[in-house]
Amino acid sequence: MRELGIGLIGTGFMGRAHALAFRNVSAAFELPVSLRLAALADADPQRASQCAQAWGFATAHSDWQKLIDDPAVNVVAITTPNHLHFPMAMAALAAGKAVYCEKPLAVSLEQAEQMHQAAKAAGVVTRVGYNYQHNPMIEWARQMVRDGELGQIISFDGEFCEDFMADGQAPWSWRCEAQHAGGALADLGSHLLAMARYLLGDVQAVCADSQTVHRQRPVQAGSAELKPIVVDDHTQALLRFANGARGTVSSSWLKHGYKNHLSFEISGTLGTLKFDQERLNELQLCRAGQAGFQRLLAGPALPGYAAFSPAPGHQLGYNELKTLEVHALIMALAGEGQVGTDFAEALAVERLAAAIRVAAREQRWVQVQSV
Ligand code: NAD
Repeated sequence: MRELGIGLIGTGFMGRAHALAFRNVSAAFELPVSLRLAALADADPQRASQCAQAWGFATAHSDWQKLIDDPAVNVVAITTPNHLHFPMAMAALAAGKAVYCEKPLAVSLEQAEQMHQAAKAAGVVTRVGYNYQHNPMIEWARQMVRDGELGQIISFDGEFCEDFMADGQAPWSWRCEAQHAGGALADLGSHLLAMARYLLGDVQAVCADSQTVHRQRPVQAGSAELKPIVVDDHTQALLRFANGARGTVSSSWLKHGYKNHLSFEISGTLGTLKFDQERLNELQLCRAGQAGFQRLLAGPALPGYAAFSPAPGHQLGYNELKTLEVHALIMALAGEGQVGTDFAEALAVERLAAAIRVAAREQRWVQVQSV
């Protein structure tokens, strides 16, 4: 059996999620290749070696280029702040390695375009961490839309909000820098835009508004020193889909009470379907004429669920979605699958986000393909 060497860069929130997924995927699925946790890199050398040991990676680096140059590494997983996706992915592609990059793909449309071109030229597998799409309930929703169970689709109304920046004293982080990240639209909205495209397809035109509510934040928790903030705290947009449906999307990191509220309602001539990531094992469906919404619950009839549990209602969690994403990556690397967001699709998400930024800045409708 062919062996794939995994190189993981970053040991934060997503570094751990990737490590868990790479460790668990062989237990959940029979894979056509075997995985070797070859190398782990983090800017902090002590953290790199501690995590490499605890998570089962063979070697640790503080210089990510050394991980990319390591001949034992076939796949480079990038879980660093957004502005580092570009140099790391470009270096990995130049070395002919497959790339599994966290979202959003880049901090500018120009970078995203270069990454897509480099991936095409390298001819390697690329995937981007839009993990919410790997929920078997989302696949079910997508199938219902495709099979016409909701009739002709009229609207998509989506929201992704959390409250981790709701406190005006919540400190600055790399997420608050335009050149490092891009605000709530980049951080949360990108997932929602990817989801809207996944379920309903291309968006032709957008109109948007955006606001920075807290224009200064402490440089670190409790500090009296303040940093100016220019990225959006929340953004709302109207969408016109190519299939004729209309939509709204809203992303905010200021909404008290919400922890992971990636949610949407899709309405068609024959019914309405609702989803909320805070209840990720459920869909709510109302067919035309029914008195109200019916709750559909995840169970082993859905293959992605069955990989983790034979019992209905026992529920998947966030880390299982990441494992499903890694499974899709491995199958693509083995030449046995096409599932997952590649750099071409992630570029389309970036173009949509860029169009929303232009629309908000210029207060007008923008054709997505014009940006
Ligand atoms: P984090 O701050 O928790 O972790 C970032 C890691 O990168 C840290 O371990 C840091 O030491 C490391 N790092 C920074 N500079 C480095 C360098 N030069 N070389 C090597 N390592 C370096 O951030 P996070 O929350 O894990 O976010 C990382 C990425 O994951 C971002 O792109 C973010 O948008 C994305 N993300 C995705 C999801 C999702 O659901 N898919 C959720 C959260 C974050």
